[in-house]
Amino acid sequence: MDAKSPPADADRDLRLLLPPAAESPPAAPVAGVFADLGAPFWEALAGRAPRSVALQVPAGLVRDAARLARTIADRTGARVTLLNRACFGACDGPATDESNGADVVVALGHSPIPNVRLAVPTLFVEMRQPPADPEPMADRIAASGIPRRLGLVASVQHLDLVEPLREALRRRGFSLPIRPGDRRLAYAAQALGCNYSSSEAVAGEVDAFLFLGTGEFHPRGLALTSDRPVYAFDPLQGRLEPPVDRERLVARRLLYVAQAQSARRFGILVSTFAGQHRPAMAEALRRRAEAAGREAVVIAFGRLQGTDLLGRDLDAYVNTACPRIATDDAGLFERPVLTPPEFLMALGSLPMAPYRFDTFR
Ligand code: SF4
Repeated sequence: MDAKSPPADADRDLRLLLPPAAESPPAAPVAGVFADLGAPFWEALAGRAPRSVALQVPAGLVRDAARLARTIADRTGARVTLLNRACFGACDGPATDESNGADVVVALGHSPIPNVRLAVPTLFVEMRQPPADPEPMADRIAASGIPRRLGLVASVQHLDLVEPLREALRRRGFSLPIRPGDRRLAYAAQALGCNYSSSEAVAGEVDAFLFLGTGEFHPRGLALTSDRPVYAFDPLQGRLEPPVDRERLVARRLLYVAQAQSARRFGILVSTFAGQHRPAMAEALRRRAEAAGREAVVIAFGRLQGTDLLGRDLDAYVNTACPRIATDDAGLFERPVLTPPEFLMALGSLPMAPYRFDTFR
Protein backbone atom coordinates (compact mmCIF):
# COMPACT_ATOMS: atom_id res chain seq x y z
CA MET A 1 0.00 0.00 0.00
CA ASP A 2 1.21 3.50 -0.79
CA ALA A 3 2.12 5.14 2.54
CA LYS A 4 0.31 8.29 1.49
CA SER A 5 -3.03 6.77 0.47
CA PRO A 6 -5.59 6.07 3.20
CA PRO A 7 -6.60 2.40 3.79
CA ALA A 8 -9.84 1.30 2.14
CA ASP A 9 -11.60 1.13 5.50
CA ALA A 10 -10.22 4.43 6.78
CA ASP A 11 -13.68 5.41 8.06
CA ARG A 12 -14.23 2.15 9.93
CA ASP A 13 -13.44 3.53 13.41
CA LEU A 14 -15.77 6.44 12.86
CA ARG A 15 -18.55 4.14 11.62
CA LEU A 16 -18.27 2.07 14.80
CA LEU A 17 -18.65 5.19 16.92
CA LEU A 18 -21.43 6.93 15.07
CA PRO A 19 -25.08 6.09 14.44
CA PRO A 20 -26.07 5.44 10.81
CA ALA A 21 -25.45 8.54 8.75
CA ALA A 22 -28.36 10.83 8.14
CA GLU A 23 -28.66 12.49 4.77
CA SER A 24 -26.50 15.60 4.57
CA PRO A 25 -28.47 18.83 4.76
CA PRO A 26 -28.32 20.91 1.59
CA ALA A 27 -25.46 23.39 1.36
CA ALA A 28 -26.22 26.79 2.81
CA PRO A 29 -26.01 29.52 0.19
CA VAL A 30 -22.78 31.50 0.24
CA ALA A 31 -23.38 34.80 1.95
CA GLY A 32 -21.55 38.08 2.34
CA VAL A 33 -18.75 39.10 0.03
CA PHE A 34 -18.73 35.78 -1.84
CA ALA A 35 -22.46 35.72 -2.61
CA ASP A 36 -21.97 36.94 -6.16
CA LEU A 37 -18.93 35.16 -7.56
CA GLY A 38 -20.96 34.64 -10.70
CA ALA A 39 -21.45 32.03 -13.41
CA PRO A 40 -18.05 32.58 -15.11
CA PHE A 41 -16.29 31.56 -11.90
CA TRP A 42 -18.33 28.38 -11.49
CA GLU A 43 -17.95 27.52 -15.17
CA ALA A 44 -14.19 28.07 -15.06
CA LEU A 45 -13.89 25.91 -11.97
CA ALA A 46 -16.09 23.13 -13.38
CA GLY A 47 -14.06 23.27 -16.61
CA ARG A 48 -10.98 22.23 -14.68
CA ALA A 49 -12.79 19.18 -13.25
CA PRO A 50 -10.79 19.40 -10.02
CA ARG A 51 -10.52 16.44 -7.68
CA SER A 52 -9.05 18.60 -4.96
CA VAL A 53 -9.26 22.37 -4.50
CA ALA A 54 -7.34 24.69 -2.18
CA LEU A 55 -9.13 27.93 -1.39
CA GLN A 56 -7.14 31.02 -0.49
CA VAL A 57 -8.84 34.25 0.56
CA PRO A 58 -7.41 37.63 1.55
CA ALA A 59 -7.06 38.22 5.29
CA GLY A 60 -9.92 40.71 5.38
CA LEU A 61 -12.41 38.28 3.82
CA VAL A 62 -12.05 35.12 5.93
CA ARG A 63 -15.46 35.42 7.63
CA ASP A 64 -17.47 33.61 4.93
CA ALA A 65 -14.62 31.49 3.61
CA ALA A 66 -15.69 28.23 5.30
CA ARG A 67 -19.14 28.45 3.75
CA LEU A 68 -17.66 29.11 0.34
CA ALA A 69 -15.39 26.07 0.78
CA ARG A 70 -18.43 23.91 1.45
CA THR A 71 -20.30 25.30 -1.54
CA ILE A 72 -17.32 24.57 -3.80
CA ALA A 73 -17.23 21.01 -2.47
CA ASP A 74 -20.97 20.55 -3.06
CA ARG A 75 -20.93 22.01 -6.56
CA THR A 76 -17.80 20.31 -7.84
CA GLY A 77 -17.57 17.12 -5.78
CA ALA A 78 -13.96 18.02 -5.07
CA ARG A 79 -12.18 17.75 -1.75
CA VAL A 80 -11.70 21.35 -0.59
CA THR A 81 -9.06 22.69 1.78
CA LEU A 82 -9.22 26.19 3.15
CA LEU A 83 -5.71 27.58 3.36
CA ASN A 84 -4.90 29.41 6.54
CA ARG A 85 -2.20 31.66 5.14
CA ALA A 86 -3.75 34.57 3.33
CA CYS A 87 -1.79 35.63 0.29
CA PHE A 88 -0.97 39.24 -0.51
CA GLY A 89 -0.99 38.75 -4.26
CA ALA A 90 -0.35 36.37 -7.12
CA CYS A 91 3.31 36.52 -6.09
CA ASP A 92 2.96 34.28 -3.04
CA GLY A 93 0.63 31.45 -4.04
CA PRO A 94 0.89 28.24 -2.02
CA ALA A 95 3.66 25.74 -2.68
CA THR A 96 2.66 22.17 -3.60
CA ASP A 97 2.84 20.81 -0.03
CA GLU A 98 1.14 23.88 1.42
CA SER A 99 -1.87 23.38 -0.87
CA ASN A 100 -2.59 19.96 0.68
CA GLY A 101 -2.33 18.09 -2.62
CA ALA A 102 -4.80 20.32 -4.48
CA ASP A 103 -4.82 20.19 -8.25
CA VAL A 104 -6.39 23.67 -8.43
CA VAL A 105 -5.97 26.69 -6.18
CA VAL A 106 -8.80 29.22 -6.10
CA ALA A 107 -7.33 32.59 -5.11
CA LEU A 108 -9.80 35.35 -4.33
CA GLY A 109 -9.21 39.08 -4.59
CA HIS A 110 -6.14 39.10 -6.81
CA SER A 111 -5.32 39.18 -10.51
CA PRO A 112 -2.67 36.95 -12.07
CA ILE A 113 0.87 38.28 -12.51
CA PRO A 114 1.65 37.22 -16.08
CA ASN A 115 5.35 36.60 -15.60
CA VAL A 116 5.03 34.56 -12.40
CA ARG A 117 4.79 30.76 -12.70
CA LEU A 118 2.99 29.28 -9.73
CA ALA A 119 3.52 25.80 -8.30
CA VAL A 120 -0.16 24.82 -8.57
CA PRO A 121 -2.56 25.83 -11.40
CA THR A 122 -4.50 28.77 -9.99
CA LEU A 123 -7.89 30.24 -10.76
CA PHE A 124 -7.87 33.93 -9.83
CA VAL A 125 -11.16 35.52 -8.89
CA GLU A 126 -10.59 39.26 -9.05
CA MET A 127 -13.81 40.27 -7.28
CA ARG A 128 -14.23 43.44 -9.27
CA GLN A 129 -16.51 46.16 -8.01
CA PRO A 130 -19.32 46.99 -10.45
CA PRO A 131 -18.77 50.64 -11.40
CA ALA A 132 -21.22 53.19 -10.03
CA ASP A 133 -22.47 56.17 -12.07
CA PRO A 134 -19.29 58.02 -13.10
CA GLU A 135 -20.99 61.40 -13.71
CA PRO A 136 -21.23 62.58 -10.07
CA MET A 137 -17.68 61.29 -9.50
CA ALA A 138 -16.42 63.23 -12.50
CA ASP A 139 -18.24 66.36 -11.29
CA ARG A 140 -16.57 66.11 -7.91
CA ILE A 141 -13.12 65.44 -9.36
CA ALA A 142 -13.41 68.26 -11.92
CA ALA A 143 -14.59 70.73 -9.26
CA SER A 144 -11.55 69.99 -7.07
CA GLY A 145 -9.09 71.84 -9.31
CA ILE A 146 -7.02 68.70 -9.92
CA PRO A 147 -4.69 68.97 -12.98
CA ARG A 148 -6.43 68.34 -16.30
CA ARG A 149 -3.62 66.11 -17.64
CA LEU A 150 -4.24 63.14 -15.41
CA GLY A 151 -2.95 59.56 -15.19
CA LEU A 152 -5.66 57.16 -14.04
CA VAL A 153 -4.55 54.08 -12.12
CA ALA A 154 -6.68 51.59 -10.17
CA SER A 155 -6.54 48.58 -7.93
CA VAL A 156 -7.83 45.47 -9.69
CA GLN A 157 -11.16 45.67 -7.83
CA HIS A 158 -11.90 49.07 -9.38
CA LEU A 159 -10.48 48.61 -12.89
CA ASP A 160 -13.98 48.45 -14.40
CA LEU A 161 -14.48 52.07 -13.37
CA VAL A 162 -11.48 53.33 -15.33
CA GLU A 163 -13.05 53.57 -18.80
CA PRO A 164 -16.47 55.02 -17.75
CA LEU A 165 -14.80 57.61 -15.52
CA ARG A 166 -12.23 58.39 -18.20
CA GLU A 167 -15.02 59.13 -20.68
CA ALA A 168 -16.90 61.28 -18.16
CA LEU A 169 -13.74 63.28 -17.36
CA ARG A 170 -12.88 63.67 -21.03
CA ARG A 171 -16.23 65.34 -21.57
CA ARG A 172 -15.13 67.81 -18.88
CA GLY A 173 -11.92 68.69 -20.68
CA PHE A 174 -9.46 66.21 -19.15
CA SER A 175 -6.69 64.40 -21.01
CA LEU A 176 -6.20 60.88 -19.61
CA PRO A 177 -3.67 58.70 -21.44
CA ILE A 178 -3.70 55.00 -20.60
CA ARG A 179 -0.99 52.52 -21.59
CA PRO A 180 -0.19 48.94 -20.71
CA GLY A 181 2.50 48.29 -18.16
CA ASP A 182 5.25 45.70 -18.39
CA ARG A 183 4.96 41.91 -18.20
CA ARG A 184 4.21 41.94 -14.47
CA LEU A 185 0.87 43.71 -14.97
CA ALA A 186 -2.18 41.92 -16.37
CA TYR A 187 -4.03 45.13 -17.27
CA ALA A 188 -3.43 48.68 -18.46
CA ALA A 189 -3.92 51.28 -15.69
CA GLN A 190 -3.49 48.58 -13.07
CA ALA A 191 -1.71 49.30 -9.81
CA LEU A 192 0.37 46.54 -8.23
CA GLY A 193 2.20 47.32 -5.01
CA CYS A 194 5.55 46.40 -6.54
CA ASN A 195 4.94 47.63 -10.06
CA TYR A 196 3.42 50.88 -11.33
CA SER A 197 4.77 50.52 -14.87
CA SER A 198 1.44 51.44 -16.50
CA SER A 199 1.65 54.76 -14.66
CA GLU A 200 5.33 55.19 -15.53
CA ALA A 201 4.36 54.70 -19.19
CA VAL A 202 2.24 57.89 -19.14
CA ALA A 203 4.24 59.92 -16.61
CA GLY A 204 5.63 62.21 -19.32
CA GLU A 205 2.12 63.14 -20.51
CA VAL A 206 0.44 63.93 -17.20
CA ASP A 207 0.74 66.49 -14.40
CA ALA A 208 -0.74 64.29 -11.67
CA PHE A 209 -2.03 60.78 -10.99
CA LEU A 210 -5.46 59.82 -9.73
CA PHE A 211 -5.70 56.46 -8.00
CA LEU A 212 -9.13 54.77 -7.95
CA GLY A 213 -9.51 52.51 -4.96
CA THR A 214 -9.45 52.38 -1.19
CA GLY A 215 -6.69 52.79 1.37
CA GLU A 216 -3.27 54.41 1.25
CA PHE A 217 -1.21 51.44 0.09
CA HIS A 218 -1.25 52.19 -3.63
CA PRO A 219 -1.18 56.01 -3.41
CA ARG A 220 1.96 55.73 -1.25
CA GLY A 221 3.59 53.23 -3.60
CA LEU A 222 2.78 55.35 -6.63
CA ALA A 223 4.15 58.44 -4.87
CA LEU A 224 7.46 56.62 -4.29
CA THR A 225 7.76 55.87 -8.01
CA SER A 226 6.89 59.31 -9.37
CA ASP A 227 7.39 62.95 -8.48
CA ARG A 228 3.94 63.80 -9.89
CA PRO A 229 1.30 64.57 -7.23
CA VAL A 230 -0.78 61.48 -6.42
CA TYR A 231 -4.45 62.01 -5.54
CA ALA A 232 -6.75 59.20 -4.48
CA PHE A 233 -10.46 58.82 -5.15
CA ASP A 234 -12.41 56.28 -3.11
CA PRO A 235 -15.27 55.17 -5.40
CA LEU A 236 -17.17 53.57 -2.51
CA GLN A 237 -17.24 56.72 -0.38
CA GLY A 238 -17.08 59.20 -3.25
CA ARG A 239 -14.19 60.91 -1.46
CA LEU A 240 -11.21 62.64 -3.08
CA GLU A 241 -8.08 62.68 -0.93
CA PRO A 242 -5.41 65.41 -1.14
CA PRO A 243 -2.05 64.47 -2.71
CA VAL A 244 0.23 62.11 -0.82
CA ASP A 245 3.04 63.87 1.05
CA ARG A 246 5.84 62.42 -1.07
CA GLU A 247 8.58 64.48 0.52
CA ARG A 248 7.78 63.04 3.93
CA LEU A 249 7.68 59.48 2.58
CA VAL A 250 11.02 59.83 0.86
CA ALA A 251 12.61 61.61 3.83
CA ARG A 252 11.61 58.72 6.10
CA ARG A 253 13.19 56.20 3.73
CA LEU A 254 16.39 58.24 3.48
CA LEU A 255 16.60 58.21 7.26
CA TYR A 256 16.87 54.39 7.15
CA VAL A 257 19.46 54.70 4.39
CA ALA A 258 21.50 57.07 6.57
CA GLN A 259 21.27 54.67 9.53
CA ALA A 260 22.51 51.78 7.38
CA GLN A 261 25.51 53.70 6.04
CA SER A 262 27.54 52.80 9.11
CA ALA A 263 26.35 49.17 9.24
CA ARG A 264 29.15 46.59 9.09
CA ARG A 265 27.11 43.36 8.89
CA PHE A 266 24.14 42.97 6.54
CA GLY A 267 21.52 40.26 6.19
CA ILE A 268 20.34 39.94 2.59
CA LEU A 269 16.76 38.64 2.67
CA VAL A 270 15.59 36.41 -0.15
CA SER A 271 12.03 35.12 -0.45
CA THR A 272 10.98 31.57 -1.29
CA PHE A 273 7.67 32.80 -2.80
CA ALA A 274 7.57 32.35 -6.58
CA GLY A 275 6.78 35.96 -7.45
CA GLN A 276 9.18 37.50 -4.95
CA HIS A 277 12.13 35.17 -5.45
CA ARG A 278 15.27 37.08 -6.51
CA PRO A 279 18.22 34.86 -5.51
CA ALA A 280 20.53 36.27 -8.19
CA MET A 281 19.95 39.80 -6.93
CA ALA A 282 20.51 38.67 -3.33
CA GLU A 283 23.83 37.10 -4.29
CA ALA A 284 24.88 40.14 -6.34
CA LEU A 285 24.11 42.41 -3.38
CA ARG A 286 26.01 40.14 -1.01
CA ARG A 287 29.08 40.36 -3.23
CA ARG A 288 28.70 44.11 -3.56
CA ALA A 289 28.54 44.48 0.22
CA GLU A 290 31.76 42.47 0.59
CA ALA A 291 33.46 44.48 -2.14
CA ALA A 292 32.60 47.57 -0.07
CA GLY A 293 34.31 46.06 2.97
CA ARG A 294 31.14 44.91 4.76
CA GLU A 295 30.04 41.44 5.84
CA ALA A 296 26.87 39.98 4.40
CA VAL A 297 24.88 36.75 4.59
CA VAL A 298 21.86 35.66 2.54
CA ILE A 299 18.84 34.64 4.63
CA ALA A 300 15.85 32.85 3.06
CA PHE A 301 12.25 33.39 4.18
CA GLY A 302 8.67 32.71 3.14
CA ARG A 303 6.45 35.10 5.03
CA LEU A 304 8.64 37.54 6.98
CA GLN A 305 7.60 38.56 10.51
CA GLY A 306 9.25 41.25 12.60
CA THR A 307 10.32 38.67 15.17
CA ASP A 308 12.22 36.67 12.51
CA LEU A 309 14.99 39.25 12.57
CA LEU A 310 15.38 39.45 16.34
CA GLY A 311 18.51 38.23 18.09
CA ARG A 312 20.73 38.21 15.01
CA ASP A 313 24.20 39.74 15.11
CA LEU A 314 23.50 41.90 12.09
CA ASP A 315 23.30 45.69 11.84
CA ALA A 316 20.90 46.10 8.90
CA TYR A 317 19.04 44.13 6.25
CA VAL A 318 18.43 44.35 2.53
CA ASN A 319 15.12 42.90 1.42
CA THR A 320 14.99 41.43 -2.08
CA ALA A 321 11.42 40.12 -1.48
CA CYS A 322 8.28 42.28 -1.71
CA PRO A 323 9.50 45.91 -1.69
CA ARG A 324 6.57 46.96 0.47
CA ILE A 325 7.96 45.01 3.43
CA ALA A 326 10.70 47.63 3.71
CA THR A 327 8.69 50.69 2.74
CA ASP A 328 5.46 49.95 4.64
CA ASP A 329 6.39 47.62 7.50
CA ALA A 330 9.60 49.30 8.69
CA GLY A 331 8.12 49.79 12.17
CA LEU A 332 8.00 46.00 12.68
CA PHE A 333 11.77 45.64 12.59
CA GLU A 334 14.29 46.76 15.16
CA ARG A 335 17.05 47.28 12.58
CA PRO A 336 16.88 49.15 9.26
CA VAL A 337 15.48 47.07 6.40
CA LEU A 338 16.38 48.60 3.03
CA THR A 339 15.24 47.91 -0.50
CA PRO A 340 18.04 47.04 -2.98
CA PRO A 341 18.22 50.59 -4.47
CA GLU A 342 18.31 52.03 -0.94
CA PHE A 343 21.17 49.65 -0.09
CA LEU A 344 23.10 50.90 -3.12
CA MET A 345 22.50 54.45 -1.87
CA ALA A 346 23.83 53.47 1.56
CA LEU A 347 26.99 52.06 -0.05
CA GLY A 348 27.39 55.23 -2.13
CA SER A 349 26.86 53.34 -5.41
CA LEU A 350 23.70 55.35 -6.20
CA PRO A 351 22.99 59.03 -5.47
CA MET A 352 20.43 59.78 -2.76
CA ALA A 353 18.29 61.65 -5.28
CA PRO A 354 16.17 60.98 -7.16
CA TYR A 355 14.67 58.34 -4.86
CA ARG A 356 14.33 54.99 -6.64
CA PHE A 357 11.45 52.66 -5.91
CA ASP A 358 12.28 48.95 -5.98
CA THR A 359 10.08 47.98 -8.92
CA PHE A 360 9.67 44.26 -9.62
CA ARG A 361 9.89 43.50 -13.35
S1 SF4 B 1 5.52 41.50 -4.34
FE1 SF4 B 1 4.38 42.62 -2.76
S2 SF4 B 1 3.43 44.32 -3.79
FE2 SF4 B 1 4.03 42.84 -5.36
S3 SF4 B 1 2.21 41.59 -5.68
FE3 SF4 B 1 3.48 40.58 -4.13
S4 SF4 B 1 2.69 41.30 -2.15
FE4 SF4 B 1 1.93 42.70 -3.74
